[in-house]
Amino acid sequence: MVLALVEHDGGVPAEASLESLTLARGLAAEDGELAAVAFDTDGSGPGEGGGGSSGEGGPADGDGLADDLAAYGVTELDRVTHDRLDRYAPEAWAASVSQLVDELAPEAVVAPGTDRGHEVLAGVAARQSLPLAANCVAVAPGEPGEPYELERQRWGGSLIEHARLDAGTKLLTVSPHEVAAEPTERADVTVRSFAPSLDDSQFRVRVSRVEESDEEGVPLGEARVVVGGGRGVGSAEDYAILEELADLLEGTVGASRAAVNEGWRPHDDQVGLTGTKIAPDLYVACGISGAVQHMVGCKGAKNILAINTDPEAAIIQKAEYAVIGDLHEVVPAITEAVREAE
Ligand SMILES: Cc1cc2nc3c(=O)[nH]c(=O)nc-3n(C[C@H](O)[C@H](O)[C@H](O)COP(=O)(O)OP(=O)(O)OC[C@H]3O[C@@H](n4cnc5c(N)ncnc54)[C@H](O)[C@@H]3O)c2cc1C
Repeated sequence: MVLALVEHDGGVPAEASLESLTLARGLAAEDGELAAVAFDTDGSGPGEGGGGSSGEGGPADGDGLADDLAAYGVTELDRVTHDRLDRYAPEAWAASVSQLVDELAPEAVVAPGTDRGHEVLAGVAARQSLPLAANCVAVAPGEPGEPYELERQRWGGSLIEHARLDAGTKLLTVSPHEVAAEPTERADVTVRSFAPSLDDSQFRVRVSRVEESDEEGVPLGEARVVVGGGRGVGSAEDYAILEELADLLEGTVGASRAAVNEGWRPHDDQVGLTGTKIAPDLYVACGISGAVQHMVGCKGAKNILAINTDPEAAIIQKAEYAVIGDLHEVVPAITEAVREAE
């Protein structure tokens, strides 16, 4: 059996969880037993699913969640219920998953490579004295009980490590946007309620309040078009031209860390190593130099259009398309051209 941690928003599984479930299913192929563990919480918004904001899982509509997971081959759903688990608490989640590991003795535990997935599985690893392979992109299970051969991202994805994971229960997280979420033949799901044994020590850290972002639209990590702005944008007000283009293309605005540090955009908009990883069809990078810490966040983009005054900027080398010019002229010109083409 393989056990997969599923993050969800009110019973709707996060995209990163569907990706990691797809990978987990491949590992469970031997006996076909794929169990999922999900927490019933009453906040709002999933954990950082492939780059979204960090919130709460929301109370699972058990049937809805089970139904969605059935389409990914899940045969058992363990819903963790506890009166103090109304909001995310990393140690309590880790203790709960660890207790489930004791009960189910899975061959592997797979989590999405989100902030929350990493935090919980690191806690499980510490409790179980097991190694954890984070940010996997491919895993070959081999014979039952044998080590896994795997590839995983290091240094924000700028390096791929080939590794062997040898443990009674293998713990791994799956790097977001690297494995396509693919449904399969529907499975019959058994839904179980799992009540962990938890005490005060596991609630030293917990989410006490959730503030909704007032930003509307598609979450950055899921957007098909992202219009990103860096230091070259020049001010918070100048993002209006990027927002206009993003709206027109039904996309979302992103930012470099320099722009976030300037206070022009919220951290939720940051693309990169310490921000969100994006995988849009088109990333329009305006006034962004292309520092490695930024590029690891957007290397999943299918096309990059760089707009920069500096033809030597690093991002120009990595972009499929480039316009050398002042973004304050180029972006409105693109907006106008798109309007005319509509
Ligand atoms: C541990 C660590 C983590 C980091 N994490 C991240 C991260 O997650 N995300 C991230 O983005 N960065 C991150 N950084 C910072 C990163 O190294 C860069 O400093 C940052 O990405 C630079 O942002 P920028 O490209 O907007 O600014 P700059 O490097 O200053 O580039 C500005 C660009 O705008 C161009 N420009 C200026 N005016 C115009 C104009 N009018 N029209 C068009 N182009 C113009 C310039 O030619 C230049 O290329 C991290 C750094 C560290 C050390």
